[in-house]
Amino acid sequence: MMKIDVLTLFPEMFSGVFGQSILQKAAEKSAVQYNVVNFREYADNKHKTVDDYPYGGGAGMVLKPQPLFDAVAALTEQAESENPRVILLCPQGERYDQRKAEELAGLDHLIFICGHYEGYDERIREHIVTDEISIGDYVLTGGEIGAMVVIDSVVRLLPEVLGNEESHMKDSFSTGLLEHPHYTRPAEYNGMKVPDVLLSGNHKLIDEWRTKEALRRTLLRRPDLLEKIELTKDQEKLLKEVKKEYD
Ligand code: SAM
Repeated sequence: MMKIDVLTLFPEMFSGVFGQSILQKAAEKSAVQYNVVNFREYADNKHKTVDDYPYGGGAGMVLKPQPLFDAVAALTEQAESENPRVILLCPQGERYDQRKAEELAGLDHLIFICGHYEGYDERIREHIVTDEISIGDYVLTGGEIGAMVVIDSVVRLLPEVLGNEESHMKDSFSTGLLEHPHYTRPAEYNGMKVPDVLLSGNHKLIDEWRTKEALRRTLLRRPDLLEKIELTKDQEKLLKEVKKEYD
């Protein structure tokens, strides 16, 4: 079972996310155990202060090292696994993607540190953190929403969490391509029709259509992804056909 600890000043933010849908089911199936901790509890001063003014002056408050060093030490000591990954949510970190989600899904203990205010004392970053993750090139108020994004994308990859074992294998990015379009009933809605091939019952043709449409979507929306993957001979042929349509 994967253990996920979250260090935050706003633990209530996680109850909705961990208490619904797939993330809740994953815990019920014992695929994951969540432990949300307010690291203010670890502050060793009378007023339980976790932040202070930056040395050298300037705007905003900075998270002090002591509460987070002690919280991570306590969680690591309690842990069964030897080396938990300590993940700092941070706009300066490595840009998060599906490859990183797959890497984290293979581990058994993750500790997330959610920042707030102006930032962290640099010694936290240098001495207790193993991974710094940014969820995108924009600035959030705190690391909580970033941690939720990472946890959601990791937990759905754990074995037996999704009903159909295969259902994440064909997701966008897992294959290196964006996913093909989906349709459901009715076959015609207000004059808008589902492509005939999907109603044909011919699975070979359907697979080919899906591959071609995944290639088309990737070519039109994220051509950078095509440079990063090695296509099969069949995919190359289909991609040529797609490109021809736009000549
Ligand atoms: N002054 C910091 C800077 O310029 O890098 C930004 C601090 S931000 C207001 C407060 C916290 O939100 C950060 O410490 C981090 O935990 C979280 N955060 C903000 N943007 C993020 C992003 N793109 N990805 C992950 N975490 C983010």
